[in-house]
Amino acid sequence: MYQKPNCECGSDLVFTQEYFYREQFKISNEGHRVEKRLRKTVEDKYILEEYLRCPDCTTRYEFDYDNQGRIVLVGEIIGHLNGSDNVNTVKT
Ligand SMILES: [Zn+2]
Repeated sequence: MYQKPNCECGSDLVFTQEYFYREQFKISNEGHRVEKRLRKTVEDKYILEEYLRCPDCTTRYEFDYDNQGRIVLVGEIIGHLNGSDNVNTVKT
């Protein structure tokens, strides 16, 4: 039977997508950023990151799909994008 992904703290995890894209502006002769954005090129396009996230304690988890295409938890992601009190540090 399928088990929905749960956080260690007991909350249901949510499927999270983050998009990143590059915005570029020319610098004017006076040294200020020009209001108008430069046209985006292919390499400025969205970069998508997907993971499972706990809305309560902000822990992030890696996921995968099982043989029936269902979202399953595979492990915790070390570190958090958003500042948080329970940030884990990568031990070497
Ligand atoms: Zn949690």
